[in-house]
Amino acid sequence: MKSMRKNHKSRRRTTIFITGGVMSGVGKGVTTASIGALLKARGFKVTAVKIDPYLNVDPGTLNPTEHGEVFVTYDGLETDQDIGNYERFLDEDLGRANYMTSGSIFQTIINRERSMGYGGKTVEWVPDVPNEIIGRIKIAAELADADVTIVEIGGTVGEYQNLLYLEACRMMRLDYPGDVLIGLVSYLPVPGNLGEMKTKPTQYAARSLNAAGLQPDLIICRSAQPIDEPRKRKLSISCNVAPADVVAAPDVASIYEVPLKLEEQHVAERIIDKLKLKVSKIDGKKWRELSSRIQHSIKPVRIGVVGKYFSTGNFTLSDAYLSVLEAIKHAAWHIGRKPEIVWLNSEDFEQNKLNFKKQMKGLDGIIIPGGFGSRGIEGKMMAIRYAREHKLPYLGLCYGMQLALVEMARDVLGWKDANTTEINPDTTHPVIHLMDEQEKKMEDKNYGGTMRLGDYPCVLKKGTAARRLYREEIVRERHRHRYEANPKYREDFEKIGVRFSGLSPDNKLAEIIELEKHPFFMASQFHPELTSRPFRPNPLFLGLVKAASSNKKR
Ligand code: GLN
Repeated sequence: MKSMRKNHKSRRRTTIFITGGVMSGVGKGVTTASIGALLKARGFKVTAVKIDPYLNVDPGTLNPTEHGEVFVTYDGLETDQDIGNYERFLDEDLGRANYMTSGSIFQTIINRERSMGYGGKTVEWVPDVPNEIIGRIKIAAELADADVTIVEIGGTVGEYQNLLYLEACRMMRLDYPGDVLIGLVSYLPVPGNLGEMKTKPTQYAARSLNAAGLQPDLIICRSAQPIDEPRKRKLSISCNVAPADVVAAPDVASIYEVPLKLEEQHVAERIIDKLKLKVSKIDGKKWRELSSRIQHSIKPVRIGVVGKYFSTGNFTLSDAYLSVLEAIKHAAWHIGRKPEIVWLNSEDFEQNKLNFKKQMKGLDGIIIPGGFGSRGIEGKMMAIRYAREHKLPYLGLCYGMQLALVEMARDVLGWKDANTTEINPDTTHPVIHLMDEQEKKMEDKNYGGTMRLGDYPCVLKKGTAARRLYREEIVRERHRHRYEANPKYREDFEKIGVRFSGLSPDNKLAEIIELEKHPFFMASQFHPELTSRPFRPNPLFLGLVKAASSNKKR
């Protein structure tokens, strides 16, 4: 055992840092994930780490319109949507070791200092902070036993927040010469008034890396159109990178095309060459098959997603629901349908009832994803009632399950003021209430990372639709909630045809509900979207999309 461990530790591990140039939001995460997928297809063990440079300890306390989706790992860490991208592309479960923020780094360092962990020495920004970062990257690599660890540094180079991470990269490169590569994912704009692709911002981004003591090995050029040869040469000369290492990454119809686009330009081979890795196999078949399946999925299935985290200033974004969107796509492609997603703002329903009906009529199925607080919930319940009464396939995710119970309590059981205590603590029928262990946390204002998080087992009842979909008795799915279906009302709901088809092993928590006399009305307390993968759609999404596809209207 001892010698095995030694062997294990002494084995060579390589690291690729992915940095961003010019602006954020250009797809660094998908690029990181795609490079990972290409290396994995060549038989390497690959893992990925995301760094978010902000000072929040995790994004769990951030507003979704500001941050986008909070992705939850199986072991219960609240992370950013890129971890979701890595999991979907690598088809691996990642965990706490794969994510860090500056807040989490400083928390560790300060706690260590308080317990004399630095042995009386002065704790310095450099090297102590980069050392903590490097230590964490190494742990992630060890845990995954990775040949290659891809580390994505959030934000863009030149930002104040990034400096210590670039310093970590520099120090790691110094310690492990030949084992560390740097990729720069940069944006090349085509200003409307010029009609020409400009390379200068990317040149400056490369210089920012140089100023931090780093030289990019690879420049990935994100742009609407592929970068052409003259501009590739320009970047090659000005950024000191071989022309073959300037890679075009134009916009594509589906993010799952990105690995194929990079493969065409031999990105994996360039990396393998530079890191002097030995390839044992090449198997890109499943990516080509996925791409062809996507292209051949022509007949549409229209799924409405009713949410509220859309607006930032004058712009409307669906980022807060990223995994839901991906999960719908995976399921639709699996059955050869083209996913058509309609984003619906529940607050609009409350104001315009006529428009609401019109919008509902155009849908084959409806999803209500997770959420918090009172804004927009009446509109969500209008949609649930519509789905229930018009036999429109419905899938509720977390809040979407809780609100389905509130809606039925009000409209079918006749308890007019039924509610979740999240909204009305004084309701006479608290059909959704705070979980026992949450009371104290709320009193203490202990909000960060204290929800019921991560995966927990759920036992599926025989003879239910949920059991038929999962084809297993016990499944594990990921959670993020404080409230639960109040068990006191279970019998009342059963009398009106609600089945509690999934429960926690101790029977205490309702995990899945479904309606008996409905083609597909299913809702879960967990978030099934978090475990959906392009090659393995989640069973509940598959159920919804199948039911929606056999909708008579089309
Ligand atoms: N607000 C609800 C709760 O805390 C639902 C959370 C969610 O949808 N993720 O239980």
